[in-house]
Amino acid sequence: MQEIILCKLGEVVLKGLNRRSFEQKLISNIRRRTNRFGNFKIYSRQSTIYVEPQGEDCNVSAAYDACRQIFGIIAIARAVPCEKDKVAIFKTAKTYLGDALREAKSFKVESKRADKSFPMSSIQVSQWVGGALHDAFPHLTVDVHHPELTVYVEIREDAAYVHAPSQSAAGGLPIGMGGTAVSLLSGGIDSPVSSYMMAKRGVQLEMIHFASPPYTSELAREKVLQLAKELTPWTGRLNVYIIPFTEIQEAIRQHCPEDHFTLIMRRFMMRLAHQLAKELHCKALVTGECLGQVASQTMQALAVSGDVTDLPILRPLIGMDKEEIVRLARHIGTFDTSILPYEDCCTVFTPRHPKTKPDVAEVRELESALDIDGLCARAMAGREMVRVRF
Ligand code: ATP
Ligand code: MG
Repeated sequence: MQEIILCKLGEVVLKGLNRRSFEQKLISNIRRRTNRFGNFKIYSRQSTIYVEPQGEDCNVSAAYDACRQIFGIIAIARAVPCEKDKVAIFKTAKTYLGDALREAKSFKVESKRADKSFPMSSIQVSQWVGGALHDAFPHLTVDVHHPELTVYVEIREDAAYVHAPSQSAAGGLPIGMGGTAVSLLSGGIDSPVSSYMMAKRGVQLEMIHFASPPYTSELAREKVLQLAKELTPWTGRLNVYIIPFTEIQEAIRQHCPEDHFTLIMRRFMMRLAHQLAKELHCKALVTGECLGQVASQTMQALAVSGDVTDLPILRPLIGMDKEEIVRLARHIGTFDTSILPYEDCCTVFTPRHPKTKPDVAEVRELESALDIDGLCARAMAGREMVRVRF
């Protein structure tokens, strides 16, 4: 039995004409992600996208797993095609869903008839196939309201299809529907999660990372690239821009008071991310900041770091507890890498008593000791771009 994959569309927030572009975007994302598993025919009908293997050498299981991580799909199921005939449909359901039918206590059959020339109505198909399955699995009771197992039958032009139970999928919106943004990726737990959350809203991300060799090691750099790699099943391929940050950190340490070190460093990160965003035509910045988590994440501190850019700063974790963030990090698969113990540039000169209620005007004044434009220009000029694929 050659299975096919059915992807149920998630929230179509943008109605009307945009619905088509939603579907087209999703189809091209699915195509890009499944083509290494064989040649699939991918098309949409009535809020469902069909992913059909063309030939025996397609790896349907791998394609199914990949689709579960594609944003825009809310639920996913496998199905098998059979002849458009009630007995064939019953036999297919009996074999294909035999295990599930044996395990369930109650069931129902739900049919859809797209081929109006088929001689039975969808209700008749459900009744007939349901009756035959009930005879074959007499322990089952029929429950049309809350069945443990629903057997789906679809009668289409080319064939009839029997679906297995559906599983939940990634939800969200197709990548590319939500615009583009630069995401600040550190080696911590939070920023991979914030990147995931914005990708889930359809945002195509460009990643920026600040590295301070020799204070930060080659391993810290590898860790960040590994995190980016672990994000790609959700985000699609990523470009990681690695920006040398050592000179900036040393200049701040030399010329600015210690209690303002982290704040001024953050402002440089925001400036550089802003410059990259302008260059790449991105419309927002994304960070893993969370209110109250550390000294640089008070409201006043957020105001100070946001002062250097007029782009919206998206902080999807702002109201989350650490446990919730950790749960998500485990779910997306980045947690184990995030807790590897390599130094990040933020942990390199941490002030003993960081300023928690900074003042924008004061910070601007303190920064005037620095050649801000020159430092930024040299950092941008020394950057490296690494392409990360899944
Ligand atoms: P994370 O777990 O994401 O590192 P955190 O709780 O450790 O976050 P901070 O270190 O204060 O918090 O960083 C806040 C945010 O600033 C990060 O979530 C990330 O978006 C950005 N950031 C921090 N360090 C870097 C870095 N070296 N490169 C890129 N972005 C960074
Ligand atoms: Mg950090």
